[in-house]
Amino acid sequence: MTKMVNCPECGKPVEWKEESLFRPFCSKRCQQLDFGGWANENFSIPGEEVYLDAEQDDSDHH
Ligand SMILES: [Zn+2]
Repeated sequence: MTKMVNCPECGKPVEWKEESLFRPFCSKRCQQLDFGGWANENFSIPGEEVYLDAEQDDSDHH
């Protein structure tokens, strides 16, 4: 039985399975649209490398 989700970007039904590489998005395009939406706010300084503290936070999961 396949679980279905709705693409957060366009609302299209997406099958939640291994082959759906961009789930919960329906496509790479929608994934990037959504990612770009918030990324642009955080990475708004052009020409400057900005690294969030994500790697340090990540160490908690290892
Ligand atoms: Zn979509």
